[in-house]
Amino acid sequence: SSTLVWLRNDLRIADNPALAAALRHEGPVHAVYVLETDRELRGLGGAAKVWLHESLAALSGALAERGVRLSFREGESGKIIPEMVRETKAERVYWNRRYDPAGRTHDAAIKTALRADGAEVASFNASLLVEPWDIATKQGTPYGVFTPFWTALREKPIPDPIGRIEKHEAISAPALDFGKRPAWAGGILERWAIGEDAAKRVLSDFLDDLLADYPNDRDLPRKDGTSRMSPHLRFGEIGPRQIWFAVRHLIDSKPSMASAGEKFLSEVAWREFSYHLLYHRDDIARHSMQERFDEIEWRSDSKALKAWQKGQTGIPIVDAGMRQLWQTGWMHNRVRMLTASLLTKNLLIDWRKGENWFWDTLVDADPANNPASWQWVAGSGADAAPYFRIFNPVTQGEKFDPHGDYVRQWVPELSDVPDKWVHKPWAADPEILNKASLKSGTAYPAPIVDLKASRERALSVLKR
Ligand code: FAD
Repeated sequence: SSTLVWLRNDLRIADNPALAAALRHEGPVHAVYVLETDRELRGLGGAAKVWLHESLAALSGALAERGVRLSFREGESGKIIPEMVRETKAERVYWNRRYDPAGRTHDAAIKTALRADGAEVASFNASLLVEPWDIATKQGTPYGVFTPFWTALREKPIPDPIGRIEKHEAISAPALDFGKRPAWAGGILERWAIGEDAAKRVLSDFLDDLLADYPNDRDLPRKDGTSRMSPHLRFGEIGPRQIWFAVRHLIDSKPSMASAGEKFLSEVAWREFSYHLLYHRDDIARHSMQERFDEIEWRSDSKALKAWQKGQTGIPIVDAGMRQLWQTGWMHNRVRMLTASLLTKNLLIDWRKGENWFWDTLVDADPANNPASWQWVAGSGADAAPYFRIFNPVTQGEKFDPHGDYVRQWVPELSDVPDKWVHKPWAADPEILNKASLKSGTAYPAPIVDLKASRERALSVLKR
């Protein structure tokens, strides 16, 4: 009798509970990934699809070594999964859970239908430290503020990652057909090593080389001081329990790493918090968590939106971030905050427009982290953030990119502008700008928005 594993955001062999459970049974194990087109589900963005294909290609080989054949299908999982069950004559169907409300409803319906046809169906937790329903305030309600959530999370027992898993006799890896790769994918593929082996390497290199300075370096966009685990976590090439135990183990053997290790784990806990919100709230990619934010009259300004998307706002650190995103599928966290703040506050454009652009262009575009972080910056998120928190991209740039190295890396038009003006070229002598743009061959745009006036405008709208 055979078993079908439905892979989703768990593209790994290690610590994969659904796969481990399937391999404990005798008989063939099949795996399937469905690129879902079901209407009620949020389809993957462009950059994420590029990542997905590479990740599945790597996983297919690793699964075959364990005797598991991976199929790739595109269409409605509501139809494809029952079809696959018939094709493979599976008596058991296993998958790891997802946490968005639409996905859960969808999965529950499939589960009911499969069970009605006589299959054994089971789901597992591969992507969180603790299930969102296992963590609650003293009153039994979900958390809405990070710090008490983190305090509660630390007190929970975190299950050990699954150890060695069974293997069936190896088969040859099937060829998967993903169709034509888009021309713009080159920058992403050049920048990243994709798949489970890469994810493990990235984690161990980070722990060896970067963790000690993480608390200081994580805010400096030019430094590469963060782990860059996000796309690996997004697709489940590595799970948070593996990270948790690796860091705990390191702290035990090297107590001097305790505070840096704790800082890093608290960032991983932000991811858990986002999933807590995703699970407990109503579609956080569509609705502001604070309803009154959905009464704001956002400006519709397609020209400004386009300039923001293309990194042509004339605000250097914002443009640097948006160009890093476009070229590599990733952006530094500090700069994500600044770009999101410019869009939602200074330009007063609906946070959903920004969230959608990130969804399409980030390789780590995450159903929980992306909307939760956008809402955090917009101020509409779970905790009542002070509406007057509006980042100033000039002073932030001067603080976190003091010599403009990050700006110059992504905005070559400003390569020759002296440090003093690199975050506010509009204030420099036009002569200096002319010289710089002559040298780079392109002129850098004037700011599309006056930072001071637009800040006042945002304050008055938000106050209302
Ligand atoms: P590290 O600093 O090394 O952190 C390790 C891991 O912790 C990350 O991989 C991530 O899983 C988690 N983490 C770190 N910071 C946060 C945070 N603030 N919120 C939630 N989890 C966090 N992160 C995504 O994974 N996907 C997204 O789609 C996403 N969209 C964002 C949009 C905006 C507007 C903002 C401000 C932040 C967004 N983030 C998102 C959070 C954060 O920017 C990234 O997780 C981080 O930059 C990834 O780089 P890293 O792996 O090197 O981070």
